[in-house]
Amino acid sequence: MRYLLQSMLLIWLVCSPLPGFAVQNAGLDGHAAKQLLTAEEQQYLEKKQQLTMCVDPDWMPYEKIAQGQHIGMSADFLRLFASKLAIKIEVVPSRTWLESLKLGEQRQCDIFSLVMATPERREFLDFTEAYLSFPLVIAVAFQQDYINELEDVLDKKLGVQKGYAYAELLRLQYPAIKLVEVENLAEGLDRVSRHQLYGMLGSLPDISYAFQTQYIGELKIAGKLAQQASLGIGTRNDEPLLVDIFNKAIAQLSAQERHDIINDWIAIEYVSAVDYTLLLKVASILGLIFAFFLYHYWQLRKCNDRLRLLSVTDKLTHLHNRLKLDQQLDETLHVAQRYQHVFSILLIDIDHFKLINDEYGHLIGDHALQALAQLLKSNIRAVDTLGRWGGEEFLIICPEQTVEGGRQLAEKLRAIIEQHTFEYFSHLSCSFGVAAYTQDKNADDLLKRADDALYRAKNQGRNQVCIHIL
Ligand code: GH3
Ligand code: MG
Ligand code: MG
Repeated sequence: MRYLLQSMLLIWLVCSPLPGFAVQNAGLDGHAAKQLLTAEEQQYLEKKQQLTMCVDPDWMPYEKIAQGQHIGMSADFLRLFASKLAIKIEVVPSRTWLESLKLGEQRQCDIFSLVMATPERREFLDFTEAYLSFPLVIAVAFQQDYINELEDVLDKKLGVQKGYAYAELLRLQYPAIKLVEVENLAEGLDRVSRHQLYGMLGSLPDISYAFQTQYIGELKIAGKLAQQASLGIGTRNDEPLLVDIFNKAIAQLSAQERHDIINDWIAIEYVSAVDYTLLLKVASILGLIFAFFLYHYWQLRKCNDRLRLLSVTDKLTHLHNRLKLDQQLDETLHVAQRYQHVFSILLIDIDHFKLINDEYGHLIGDHALQALAQLLKSNIRAVDTLGRWGGEEFLIICPEQTVEGGRQLAEKLRAIIEQHTFEYFSHLSCSFGVAAYTQDKNADDLLKRADDALYRAKNQGRNQVCIHIL
């Protein structure tokens, strides 16, 4: 859940409209910005022929130098500006951002692709309007609380990248802030994960970018600060025409162009990373939880089903027990009453069973009951309900069967039992009392008639079927 919330927060933060987005002129085609330049500015550019540019070699997704190529958001923006101004821009390679700043101070580069304005940098740079602006965020260990305001964590050690403008601006705004300079973002985040730093400051895109592959579940973005990283182009202040030239190029940027570039480097890259990492993780955790509950539910159901079965099963014969027979009888009676159906019941009692027990013992008697149960079971219809009524008595409920149908079934069973050879003794016989439903008010009336018939079968010499006719 925390992953989900965090990823939703990040998507919201990244995708929410950024300051400066709304008021943009619709872009003019091609070298449009060039038309807006003064004659002096145009002459200046023509004379320069090309501009040199310093960049941050390791600041994705903003920019980076990869295999000698300048890539990232600012690289795409600068390509657009170069085309609008019809000027060639050459990147001056460097290994670190600090080195780039040094090069700038030494006038090795005419412009900086993407910088924040700070008083220190004004010594050698002018700054255009910001063309990118992102919230500043703090990355902290996962278990830490969310941070509403920077004031809440002024007593804590916060990492900041060496040479990055936030440090200078935050120190001005919060003299008490405990900033610890680190070489790069990776080092800072690493120190947060090892609890050497409370948090690491950065802009949302670069911290999110770092979270794509690392620190998932370990670090989180603890909140958006009121401060923004507003980034524009830095131009050498000894050639003051440059700042206006680039301000004009920036003013020509359309909202669509801006969106397209940002989406290329943030939305797609980042959201897809959320898809495959955070969301995948969330999905698998939810999946596991779901599977866990499903398994338990299944186990519980299995257990319940088993208990339910046990409660209606006779232990010795594994036939339905008296409880189930009573239920089934009520149900069948109900259906018969409502839809004028017929059905019959067979009450079966083993003849002289006491003698079998006496002669062979109780265990053999049990065995006889089990054997008879199987014999009966395998000779009735699937729709019939067979159960142990009690002791050595069985009951069969035969839906849609008249008393004559019941009698025929009873006769068939009687003959089968009479001819069957049991394992421990040769023969056994049963007496049958058959009765059919005839407007009976309750099951007892019907049972009473079957019992009467059985009684007659016993009295008339056993091993026979008697039916009860009203
Ligand atoms: P009748 O032909 O009149 O039915 O004679 P009977 O001996 O079968 O009748 P009675 O009802 O007097 O005896 C039933 C006997 O069934 C008594 C009891 O010992 C035996 N019996 C009842 N339940 C069980 C059981 O679970 N196991 C065994 N082994 N015997 C049982
Ligand atoms: Mg009996
Ligand atoms: Mg008996």
